[in-house]
This record gives sequence, structure tokens and C-alpha cells, in this order.
Amino acid sequence: MSEMIHRTCGCCGTAFHAEIPDRSTQPPGFFYDLDNRPPEPNRSELYRQVFRCPECGFCMGPKDRKAEREFVDSVEYKTCEGRELPDSTGADYYRVAMAAERDKDIPTALAAMIRAAWFFDDDGDDASAVKCREKYLELFSQLRGNDSGALVVAADVYRRCGRYAEVAESLKNRWFPDRLTRQIIEYEAQLAEKGDRAAHSLKDCFDVIDGDK
Ligand SMILES: [Zn+2]
Repeated sequence: MSEMIHRTCGCCGTAFHAEIPDRSTQPPGFFYDLDNRPPEPNRSELYRQVFRCPECGFCMGPKDRKAEREFVDSVEYKTCEGRELPDSTGADYYRVAMAAERDKDIPTALAAMIRAAWFFDDDGDDASAVKCREKYLELFSQLRGNDSGALVVAADVYRRCGRYAEVAESLKNRWFPDRLTRQIIEYEAQLAEKGDRAAHSLKDCFDVIDGDK
């Protein structure tokens, strides 16, 4: 069983449908990754939530969005700003982020860009995943009123790019009232010190940090 989704392109107006994969049948997990990637069954939702118009190539997330043909036809759009990402769900998410950034919808752009990175993580394409995380950090710098959750995710993105010094720098002069956030930050700092660029979950964090406080 799979689901059929009907969409209308926000650029050229073409109505199209896309067959999307079933939700994961894995039992529900408990632990998010440090960059807020959810456990199954939601972990696989990124493969269900990006749609490319078969006519013009405009990429949409779950929400409708409009775009001009000139933007969608541009070399910049087609090449993901020259980042040379392989044609894939990851590149489509990158383009969803581009359209959101153009509309100054930075929260949506960030959500799409981290999904692009997760796609390339799953695909074992580290170089492309880093390109998406670098762009994520560019977008993050445009976000106003950063809350503690967004800062912690950004610290993880710095680490996953190998920008270890910036993990601590990004959190400098910040105080986080809740214990969980402080534990995550301490764990991030330890990983950065070791030069660890891998994905880690909250479980890894608790295994190391919890219990000795
Ligand atoms: Zn279209």
C-alpha cells in the first residue's frame, strides 16, 4: 500500500500526483538526534514530503508556495546555487529551502535544508551533506530571536561540518535554564573536542553525561 498525493505546482500551475512511500513500520523510538532528527516512525517522513513538478521542476514541501518561472528556470535554482548536488530528494529539499529563503521564510528554509542534509547522510554522501549544513548555517545567521533549541541544533550543525571551534563559540555567553539543554551542550563540547563529526542521539548523550551529575 502506498499513498497518492495530489498537488498543484506553485510555479506553472500543473496539477500532478505523486505516489509516496508508506510510513515506516519500525516500532516507535524514543531518542532524537542532537540536531532534532526524530526517531522512527517519523525519521523516514522526509522521503514523503517533497514534491517536484514534472512540468517545470519546481520543488515543494508539504505547504503550498508560489514562485516565478524565472526563478525556477534559473541556473542558480537548477544547480542548487552551484553546489553540484546529485539529482536526488536531497537536492529537491535544497530547492524547497531556496524558495522559502527567497520568501524570507527562514524557519521553513532551515527545516528543508536540514532534511536535505539528512537525506545525504542516509545516502552516505558526506560531501553533499556538509554542503547542505554549510548552507544551513548561512540561513541560521538570518534567523531572528534564536531560541535555545535552535542554538543547540546550530551547534550540532557546526560540529557535523567539522567547524569544532565554532561549537563553543556559538554558545558563548548563553545560559540555558533547563538541565537537559545543558547536558546536550556539554556532550556537544566533548564531541567537538574529540573531533567527532558523526551523528549522535540523545541516548548517546545520556549514556555519557547522565548519572554523573
Ligand atoms: Zn510546475
